[in-house]
Amino acid sequence: FRKIQPSINDLVVGILARNITTLSRAITLVESTNSIHLAKANEVINACLPYAGKSMRIGITGVPGVGKSTFIEAFGKILTSLGKKVAVLAVDPSSTISHGSILGDKTRMEELVKDKNAYIRPSASGETLGGVARKTRETITLCEAAGFDTIIIETVGVGQSETAVHSMVDFFLLLKISGAGDELQGIKRGIMEMADAIVINKADGDNIKKAQFAKMEFNRALHLFPAKNSGWTPTTSTCSSITHEGISTVWETIEQFLILTKENNSFYTKRKEQNQYWMLETINEYLKTSFYNQSEIQNLLESTKKAVQNDEISPFAAAQLLLDKYFHTADSNKKE
Ligand code: GDP
Repeated sequence: FRKIQPSINDLVVGILARNITTLSRAITLVESTNSIHLAKANEVINACLPYAGKSMRIGITGVPGVGKSTFIEAFGKILTSLGKKVAVLAVDPSSTISHGSILGDKTRMEELVKDKNAYIRPSASGETLGGVARKTRETITLCEAAGFDTIIIETVGVGQSETAVHSMVDFFLLLKISGAGDELQGIKRGIMEMADAIVINKADGDNIKKAQFAKMEFNRALHLFPAKNSGWTPTTSTCSSITHEGISTVWETIEQFLILTKENNSFYTKRKEQNQYWMLETINEYLKTSFYNQSEIQNLLESTKKAVQNDEISPFAAAQLLLDKYFHTADSNKKE
């Protein structure tokens, strides 16, 4: 038999009552591609908005294998032991391809998943990173309304997803491991520039010395970057997600960051800028999807691509042709 769909009001009441089943259902609506679901999701988000925004949002990035899941498990347990309510979300660009999530995978955070003060939600899947990221951004609002005061957003350190996560968090943490000596090799300048803290994980056993050295090297490199608008000087530290050495230091750093940025107001300014950014991103995303989904465009696109390849038409003229077609069709659809 069909499950009865909860009303918008039921969802909002459930979320505010901190009912996790209701929260999960609302997130599923956010992640849906069905336009009726999305309209419903938007209403739920709007109703939740006055109750949201009161959390600390932390982004964590690092290449696969660096220990993100293990770190979040250890870090999350410290936070819940301090009485915090922790939601772990993920932006995983690969889930757009594999339609399954590797990040935020519940089986990888065995302890945290059993903790009643923690909620772990794997990455949404979707056709574009922009779409996946927007869904996570909206999920933050729902989790906050459901009483989660610390939101951790994990992303894998490949591609563009760090930028998306950076634009939805207050504090951005880059997780690293010590390598063969040249720590800075292969690390993208942009990512280091985004980091509020660089934490060298796996500083245990034989690795402790190497990790200390890496820390020094990152520290030196960070000094070469221009000062941040927030007034915060990025920190470097080492930790072990296995022995838990150095994990609580990370939280202490974040607390100091909060004190500083709330005092100088940059915490709030950044959030306002981020809200604007997400409005524009949503418009961009919507226009793009609507463009490529229009059947007239789909019909024309392949032949135009070929014409561009064969130099029959310039790429700019071709783009203009398609855009004219799109807006013309959209207009005439409206008039009908
Ligand atoms: P992720 O891909 O970044 O999420 O990495 P995982 O959390 O899955 O960890 C990858 C591997 O590194 C696993 O085998 C972990 O047990 C191991 N690992 C993670 N953190 C540490 C650490 O602090 N010390 C050591 N020795 N191993 C770790």
